[in-house]
Amino acid sequence: MDKKVTVTINGNTYETEEGRSVLELALLYGVEIPFICFHKALRPIGACKLCAVEVEGKSSRPMTMLSCILKVRDGLIIKTDTDLVKTARSAAMQRLLAMAPQSRTLLSLSERFGIETGPVPDGCIRCRLCIRVCSEVVGASALKMEKRGTAGYVVPAEKQCIGCGTCANICPTGAIHLIDKEGIRTISIRDEIIGVHPLLRCEACGRYFASQRFMIHVAEATTSHTDTKEHRLYCPVCAKLLSSRIKASGKFKRI
Ligand code: SF4
Repeated sequence: MDKKVTVTINGNTYETEEGRSVLELALLYGVEIPFICFHKALRPIGACKLCAVEVEGKSSRPMTMLSCILKVRDGLIIKTDTDLVKTARSAAMQRLLAMAPQSRTLLSLSERFGIETGPVPDGCIRCRLCIRVCSEVVGASALKMEKRGTAGYVVPAEKQCIGCGTCANICPTGAIHLIDKEGIRTISIRDEIIGVHPLLRCEACGRYFASQRFMIHVAEATTSHTDTKEHRLYCPVCAKLLSSRIKASGKFKRI
């Protein structure tokens, strides 16, 4: 007959046979511990690391161990709801979500156990280049950081975007999307719209080339010289061509 041992979990004492893991004991008595990679029919390998529990050690410093691997032993004292456990679970969950950000299993487990997931991966590395360029260079201040849960996210500031697309161009990871379709420019991050803008056609070649709001912004921010005004009617390619003609003829000539 297997030797009996006594284990304490969260202050409650359980008598069990030697050879079991702490996770098996917890499952037997309804003590909730999150896990993904444990399966009764398979040998545990501690891959997901979600089942970390705090173990009262001989030294005064508590530590976490994986309950799927840790075997019960007489006098073992376990806690499943301490700050140390929460930190270990959170780190494990963030590592898993980095690999499978859309996993419903992971997300619902996080919710059920209140596991801090950190920022849900959205392609943004929080360099803030987009926020800085929009504020410091474009002058629109259409993006900002906002705290959601415990993490900061780049989010749009309502109705500020002028549709220049500089944020999408400067973003090093492609997290900001710019789509020009049928004369409409849409700029977004995750599933949040930063701006939707009608585009202007170049008066020379007819191509869509810039948002109306952006061109108004440029008009307000630049000199009122006649030649500069005319240039705003043309896409960059035609404007360049126009510049050469002005230079060559010494006067403005419509193309
Ligand atoms: S597209 Fe909008 S949010 Fe992006 S830099 Fe231009 S004004 Fe700012």
